[in-house]
Amino acid sequence: MPKLTLDTPVQYLKGVGPKMAKRLGKIGIKTIRDLLTYYPFRYKNFALKSPIAQVQEGETVTIQGKIKEIKNEYTKTGKTIQKALVEDETGTLPVVWFNQPFLTKTLAPGISVSLAGKIKRFNYQPTLISPEYEILSPRKSSYQYQEIHTGRLVPVYSETKGINSKYLRKIIAQALKETKEIINEIFPRQILVKYNLIPRRQALEKIHFPESKAAAEAARHRLAFEEMFLIQLQALERRLSWQKGKKSFWTKLSSPQESLAPFLKSLPFSLTKSQKKAIKEIITDIKKPKPMNRLLQGDVGSGKTIVAAAAAYLTVKNGFQAALMAPTEILAFQHYQTFKTLFSPLNIPVEIISHSLRKETKKVVKITIGTHALLHHEEVFSNLGLLIIDEQHRFGVLQRGKIIQQMAQRQGFFPHLLTMTATPIPRTVTLTLHGDLDLSVIDELPPGRKPVATFVVPNEDREKCYRWLEKEIKEKKIQAFIVCPFVEPSETLETVKAAKEEFKKLQEKVFPNLKLALLHGRMKGKEKKAVLEKLQKGKIDILVSTPVVEVGIDLPNATVMIIEGADRFGLAQLHQLRGRVGRGERKSRCFLFAENPTQKALIRLKALETIHQGVKLAEIDLKLRGPGEIYGLKQHGFPKLKIATFTDFALVSQAREAAKEFINTDPLWQKKITHWKADIPAILPN
Ligand code: ADP
Ligand code: MG
Repeated sequence: MPKLTLDTPVQYLKGVGPKMAKRLGKIGIKTIRDLLTYYPFRYKNFALKSPIAQVQEGETVTIQGKIKEIKNEYTKTGKTIQKALVEDETGTLPVVWFNQPFLTKTLAPGISVSLAGKIKRFNYQPTLISPEYEILSPRKSSYQYQEIHTGRLVPVYSETKGINSKYLRKIIAQALKETKEIINEIFPRQILVKYNLIPRRQALEKIHFPESKAAAEAARHRLAFEEMFLIQLQALERRLSWQKGKKSFWTKLSSPQESLAPFLKSLPFSLTKSQKKAIKEIITDIKKPKPMNRLLQGDVGSGKTIVAAAAAYLTVKNGFQAALMAPTEILAFQHYQTFKTLFSPLNIPVEIISHSLRKETKKVVKITIGTHALLHHEEVFSNLGLLIIDEQHRFGVLQRGKIIQQMAQRQGFFPHLLTMTATPIPRTVTLTLHGDLDLSVIDELPPGRKPVATFVVPNEDREKCYRWLEKEIKEKKIQAFIVCPFVEPSETLETVKAAKEEFKKLQEKVFPNLKLALLHGRMKGKEKKAVLEKLQKGKIDILVSTPVVEVGIDLPNATVMIIEGADRFGLAQLHQLRGRVGRGERKSRCFLFAENPTQKALIRLKALETIHQGVKLAEIDLKLRGPGEIYGLKQHGFPKLKIATFTDFALVSQAREAAKEFINTDPLWQKKITHWKADIPAILPN
């Protein structure tokens, strides 16, 4: 028989035939590696071994002895009971099972067994009830571990039809035995020592068959560390390969900082500390002839646009073009207006390209704004020095890479890349997900901005809330948003239909004397534009919308937001939504309604009343709902972790540190990483 490797299909393992292999495949176990990394989620404690004479009622014990007798008994209801007597040197003990008639054959008298279970009273005497069993004699030499189902901490796996923990234990023990020589250490000694990691082979053994809780914990730590390390290593590799062999423009301005002065002077405000810092970091990047790959993260309203505009300004000053790509037309149009306002006093023309808005000129433009329709107008770009992508998570990473490649091919050099996101992502996740990017964070709002006062409102106060809003609009001439939930995870026809109905009800029944408008993602560009214009001119009092408003409406006169079905949103997402109000001087408010909130959901929502930092809220989401529920991560192709967790901040940062050390000290790291590819959870489809 050929020797097993970790990539060998499980079918070639002793005890696994084609039928079982198929079932295993259904739970993702295709290779020996998959099997060994199918980790238990808990252990049953059968470690207490007791002589029969000393067993006590209520105890969970393992006893070892010989089957003295065993028989099937039939009950009146047609079921069977297996009654056995087991004996060791100290005495005999009755054992019963239910409805396992084959046991009388498997456990024939004279066979040595190990039995684990609970001692309970049965027929007036202490009895071992439905124990796990394994045969000790004749000794099954194929097992490395004499006992795997009894007499120890016994692993429990997530099961499926036709695959139970007992079977998994058996084949995992087999796989461990057959792979004894081929599981190599991947960490150099100094990393093992520094981070207190047990050897790899030992960890894989002990995670399944630990001799103690502490041993299981050490194994778990080692394997989680390894998993996170490999993810970080891959991110660092991507970061290095991004710059490898690539050229970008670099600034020849003697002092870019000073060159920026006219732009900064034209602003009606001065920059916040974080904005200044971000611009400084960008300048450092464009001083080098290597393409920048920087992520600008900041809450909604923190002023990312100005930072992007400053970068665009410097690019134009250097004689290159800049482009800004936005995920939706609404957002593109808003940016277009902002940029026009910013740049027209400086005599720098700004153009827009999108599907519905035709390109207005054919001449070479300096600054172009658009949706991904930008890509279909390659003729505009021959000299692109900077590409800014807003809300970057809405474009896939691969798509992003392709765009850049295309542009580079056409013009012979790479544009610098600045991506922006308001998606609050916990630091641990940012480090992992965007490990290949340099990060600039804007962690403050412009001065004078008041946090949006937020209230979770019980449904019985709904009418009161509406009447208050009506009064507020009439007296203070403010505007409001009413946001309907996504019926499904994204904007579908269903969602649109629900929003339409809500709109109709609100306009006809609730606010007949106010002007309402509807906005959703499936409207034509022209219609959207018309609504936005009316909004900006104050001709609309309340905008009813699906959560599309989240990206890109800047309406200083809007001070109230009502969010329906708030329990369907993540906290971070709600935080982003409410960021749409409170952009002006006035106090603004956000009211949250939940459909059928559980107590837990209400407590979760209450966090929004007191916490006003997106990243903090995202951390709560991560703890309460897991990474899958953090807004935006699904689009990222977030890695599915087998054992590590993103809530373990120490783990993430140590693994990252170790990955850096590894790259810096091991000249063969790149070669090694290709060997390990199969061990790395896929962050990206390769
Ligand atoms: P976001 O980070 O959400 O993209 P924007 O760039 O749209 O935020 O900025 C939000 C608002 O804050 C805009 O109206 C912008 O003009 C204003 N703004 C940005 N920076 C400052 C600042 N330093 N001081 C005052 N207002 C600012
Ligand atoms: Mg923005």
